[in-house]
Amino acid sequence: MNQFIRCIDCDEGFMKTPFDQCPEYEYDPTHPSEPVRGIKRDDFREFLIIHRGHRSEYLEIMEDSFVSEKVYFEPVKTSYIRATNKKKEKFVIKQFREKIGDPVKYQLIRGDYFLECVAVEVQSEDIAKQLKTEFKRHPLSQTQISAFLKLYRRVVRRIDIKNLERIPEESSHSLEVYYKIDDITLFYLLRNCRNIFKGKEYSHIEDFISRHKDDGVLLLKARYKIQITEKAKTKKEAVSTAVLAEVKKVIEKE
Ligand SMILES: [Zn+2]
Repeated sequence: MNQFIRCIDCDEGFMKTPFDQCPEYEYDPTHPSEPVRGIKRDDFREFLIIHRGHRSEYLEIMEDSFVSEKVYFEPVKTSYIRATNKKKEKFVIKQFREKIGDPVKYQLIRGDYFLECVAVEVQSEDIAKQLKTEFKRHPLSQTQISAFLKLYRRVVRRIDIKNLERIPEESSHSLEVYYKIDDITLFYLLRNCRNIFKGKEYSHIEDFISRHKDDGVLLLKARYKIQITEKAKTKKEAVSTAVLAEVKKVIEKE
């Protein structure tokens, strides 16, 4: 299991993973099965040497709190994890890597983060494409497709995303979340479709909506932004850190 150790004196930390003491291999993207060179790794030992004699504590990592600006499998990215100590103080662990081959770096932030929803989108392009594919025998006109998209966007504007069911398996990106529209919205959408589609066309669009509402192109895509809320240090803590930095400088000079 991963453990995060925090140096209380320096307010720095390190994630201890089972891989710290293993050599890391770099790969040539054209021959991914053959490692080209090994990099010796003992990052944890290095951390212990730097912070020898300092006060330290383990932080508990909060389950399911990992968020990142990029997809999970992207190696060069910045991610954030929530953690707490025994005193229940909150921390955000920022972990990042500047380029492939670099070790992961950590920055400890006192406070929390929240995800701010910046946009809720209808997957217009995909819907249009799907409508054209599935209505090949009785094609819809461009005007009908545009009218449907316009209607769907208008209906979605009335929705509060907080009330919708999340479909987590649709995205490997923690800031792009897919949601399923609720039954009331669905009913409203269908009722308004009667103004665009008549007779058989209406029953076809009704089938289309029921086929795609749960896991298809009709899902709504919400985009989020990570907002960090940093807790200001108390005066006492700020002073002690400043003193410590001074002491460090003096020691380094000697
Ligand atoms: Zn330290």
